[in-house]
Amino acid sequence: MSNKKEIPYKIYLEEHEMPKQWYNVRADMKNKPAPLLNPGTHKPMTFEELTPVFCDELVKQELDDTTPYFDIPEEILSFYKMYRPSPLVRAYCLEEKLQTPAKIYYKFEGNNTSGSHKLNSAIAQAYYAKKQGLKGVTTETGAGQWGTALSMASAYLGLDCKVYMVKCSYEQKPFRREVMRTYGASVTPSPSMDTKVGQKILAEHPGTTGSLGCAISEAVEVATSTEGYRYVLGSVLNQVLLHQSVIGLETKAALDKYDIKPDIIIGCAGGGSNLGGLISPFMGEKLRGEADYRIIAVEPASCPSFTRGTFAYDFCDTGMVCPLAKMYTLGSNFIPSANHAGGLRYHGMSSTLSQLYADGLMEARSYEQTKVFEAAQEFARVEGILPAPESSHAIRAAIDEALKCKETGEEKTIVFGLTGTGYFDMYAYQAYNDGTMSDYIPTDEEIAASVAGLPKVD
Ligand SMILES: *Cc1c(COP(=O)(O)O)cnc(C)c1O
Repeated sequence: MSNKKEIPYKIYLEEHEMPKQWYNVRADMKNKPAPLLNPGTHKPMTFEELTPVFCDELVKQELDDTTPYFDIPEEILSFYKMYRPSPLVRAYCLEEKLQTPAKIYYKFEGNNTSGSHKLNSAIAQAYYAKKQGLKGVTTETGAGQWGTALSMASAYLGLDCKVYMVKCSYEQKPFRREVMRTYGASVTPSPSMDTKVGQKILAEHPGTTGSLGCAISEAVEVATSTEGYRYVLGSVLNQVLLHQSVIGLETKAALDKYDIKPDIIIGCAGGGSNLGGLISPFMGEKLRGEADYRIIAVEPASCPSFTRGTFAYDFCDTGMVCPLAKMYTLGSNFIPSANHAGGLRYHGMSSTLSQLYADGLMEARSYEQTKVFEAAQEFARVEGILPAPESSHAIRAAIDEALKCKETGEEKTIVFGLTGTGYFDMYAYQAYNDGTMSDYIPTDEEIAASVAGLPKVD
């Protein structure tokens, strides 16, 4: 089109163009995500059963499969304005480097101290806890981005914040820990002797370096046994995808300004929150039959929930204290091998995305970590941003799709989520630069063994 406007390197939205509501993609799904089940009775969890664990307003959001839009409270909007709208960047330099006819865009969520998109949900969850008059919140963190985001949000609102940090990352990422403490959070390596479940796990597995599933169990136990506290979770849950829809809504608004229609939308998938948020308005159009897009989830080959997991009810945590969720899972006992993309090491996947994937509405693929770091390095050298290892899974897939366009001559428009920066992942970059990074892929037998432990639900 000759009258097309020149596309700038960065498409910004004005403050008044920022979304004022979150979008709930479940409202447009014909096959709703399966409900959370009570682990004892296998009946759907009720509002009354969930509110001892989560804040009331968040439970309402969690259980609501029909309301398409939720107003973003004024206080959250003003917090968002400190670091949003985030830019949608046209990757002109990467396109040039790849010599591809594809047009590549990325939505950059790394421009805040937490270094990732996680702040979008942290502020929302902390806000509802404060509004309910609670004293504090508990949570787990793996790589550390979620714990950092929640400490920032809690500090802003004057809430206490207790973080259980997976022991191996507590030791490997001391600076993440110090950022959290600077924001006033208490940070405990997990498993710890503070909780019954931590004591039990340590008795059974002395010397364990912990896992997300185990840290979740500890944080839930502390929340439910401490007056005035609730538990908050940074991914997987429906409410988190709802808050993260701000990413997709801004992306769509920015693209619409220049009449750009993406062909392919790509995101990395750990528990599914950034991907779910990025794709939600586009998936909504797809579900309503208004448009079509290829949507690709990218995960590590070492923790391949979508590509090699089973779609079934499973425990969300190792201690089996949380409700059961129906999702693509590797089994709650699955301990992924050391992989530097810490934020993608969860055994399960959002039940909303799991249902969309089961219904054939999105694709998934996995990459080995050296291939991911190769893409990270290539991206860093031309686009200037040092990407998080998690985000680099999406970069890998975007580069591969752009290279396919080079072969076929197709001018596809590719949009991917650049979820964060990698400044705290220098051990990982070091291993890659030294050539000592390895690619571990679990065997079919290992996955079968952990999936054999799935709870029997009919
Ligand atoms: C946590 C994290 C992820 C993965 O989590 P999702 O819930 O799947 O989005 C991806 N990238 C970064 C930078 C993260 O911190």
